[in-house]
Amino acid sequence: MTTDRVKQVKEANDIVDVVGGYVALRPAGPTYKGLCPFHDDHRPSFDVDPRRQRYRCWSCGKYGDVLQFVQEHERVSFLEALEILARRAGIALEQDTHVVRQHAKAPLLAAVNWAATVYQEFYSESTDAAEARRYLGERKLLGPTLRRFGVGYAPPSGDWLVKQATAAGVSLEHLEQVGLIARRTHSDGFYDRFRDRVLFPIRDSLGRPVGFGGRILPNSPLASRGPKYYNSPSTPLFNKDEQLFGLDLARTPASKEGFLAVVEGYTDVLMAHQCGIGNVVATMGTALNARHVRNLRRFAGAEVPRVVLVFDADAGGNNGVDKALEVFASQEVDLAIATLPEGLDPCDLLLQDGGPQKFREILDGAVDALAFKLARVLATDGANSVEGRRKAVDAVLGIIALAPEMSGQAGAVKRELIVTRIARRLALKEETVWARLEELRAQRRQSEERDDRSPSLARLALRGAQSEEDHRAAKAAPEEQQLLQILLAEPALVARAVQGVTPDEICHLELHQLLEGLYALHAEGQEPSIDQLRVRIPNARLAEYILKLCEVGQHNPDRPGYLEKLLKFFRERRARREKQEISNQLHTASDDTAKLELLRQLQNQQGL
Ligand SMILES: [Zn+2]
Repeated sequence: MTTDRVKQVKEANDIVDVVGGYVALRPAGPTYKGLCPFHDDHRPSFDVDPRRQRYRCWSCGKYGDVLQFVQEHERVSFLEALEILARRAGIALEQDTHVVRQHAKAPLLAAVNWAATVYQEFYSESTDAAEARRYLGERKLLGPTLRRFGVGYAPPSGDWLVKQATAAGVSLEHLEQVGLIARRTHSDGFYDRFRDRVLFPIRDSLGRPVGFGGRILPNSPLASRGPKYYNSPSTPLFNKDEQLFGLDLARTPASKEGFLAVVEGYTDVLMAHQCGIGNVVATMGTALNARHVRNLRRFAGAEVPRVVLVFDADAGGNNGVDKALEVFASQEVDLAIATLPEGLDPCDLLLQDGGPQKFREILDGAVDALAFKLARVLATDGANSVEGRRKAVDAVLGIIALAPEMSGQAGAVKRELIVTRIARRLALKEETVWARLEELRAQRRQSEERDDRSPSLARLALRGAQSEEDHRAAKAAPEEQQLLQILLAEPALVARAVQGVTPDEICHLELHQLLEGLYALHAEGQEPSIDQLRVRIPNARLAEYILKLCEVGQHNPDRPGYLEKLLKFFRERRARREKQEISNQLHTASDDTAKLELLRQLQNQQGL
């Protein structure tokens, strides 16, 4: 797929024409306005700008170009969106393009499956996996359970999988696309992304492995250098915000039990299944969100799925509960919360005498998210005083007013239910609760309108960061974000960046992935343009993030100069970290020769 071809398709499809086919648009000054198709819009919040060929919703933050619109509206991949628009404009696309073939799912699934098999064999057979087996054995997980879940182990060497694949004739490109290996930046070849980790294959609903969750061995020398848990990055097969670990095995038990229980750890899931409680899954380091629920609804058919979130007594803090309440208010799901006894995780509890029975009772005693939040608020603020009740109402309604509104009949029923329950629990008139909810909603709309009048980029970025999708963007170091803004806006600068910063220096997961993508394109001699990158990023949310970053970058008047400043920042950060590393080693070095050598290195560092 050439950048030119993408450009040609975009030029042949005016954004106002295309969007106008889905949404009624009316001219408003230099732009067109309509009701946003991506949220339940009651006033025209959706802007289409023919000059910039971009759309933006001022309410829900959706943003993009004509391809992004079709991708999101039709729920298709970038390439499929490209095909739809090419057909619309009568442009013929080569069907057998390199990229289309590359993105066919079958070879990717085969690659993950092959890796899952070799990792599992290594775990059960190699003497070098003894430590991994000891670790899981200590957790009282039995062979049949581990085999059922296909648990494996990735040895510490940096290129074990690469070598296995080369010997077996497995395509390294495919392994790269599924996030198991990555290209070296400064030399040829690939390295393994999972090292010295116990691997839990994450399987889709059909039981096919699509990614991995990896737990570093506690005594690993690599433990201090990476996160305890590390998942596959987003790939054409895997997205950690959608998939649930263990769902393939939990589906049947869940339909029998009438609900699905969601815990936090992989080993908790394994232990529950081992104890005969099969309706248990885990999220992958994220709170249960709207996309998980949509994914679950596909399995529950027409029925509203019932989900029980299992929280630790102390954790699950207010944040977790509020998040759950937000999902409950905005999604067609029956969401309940179960709390574990103080200081226990599910695994600990299940291993106790009578633990499985106790765990079942806890699940059965789950309280729905609204009742749970109400009880918690009342426990702190006191239900008896007028002031206490007012605070309780606001604490709960505040979350509900901010949650995306559910549309249609189901939404109306849910709001009715929520208001009725709050009123009853707090002994208030329903009208009072409705009135307060309306007040809070109006406040929200007002603050949105204020934003509308001065839609600065900074505010836009801020709002983006506050939305669930870009939640982690808020945690990115500003320099990491700025680097991608600049490179996405000016692909020619990628060649310069390659010399000055490696993807491994980018801590933020998605920015890291984007930089890797740009470098890979550059390494392959392709233009590291935003459209080429989008071909490889099937995730529509990430594609939208790319477009937003690019827009900010386009407003920078001196990108080459700014890039140099950023590279200087990364250079200095690297030096600081290396210095820290050496002085750490110095403290633990045993013999004098080693100490001297380290001191010498340290002095060199300071000389820089
Ligand atoms: Zn919207």
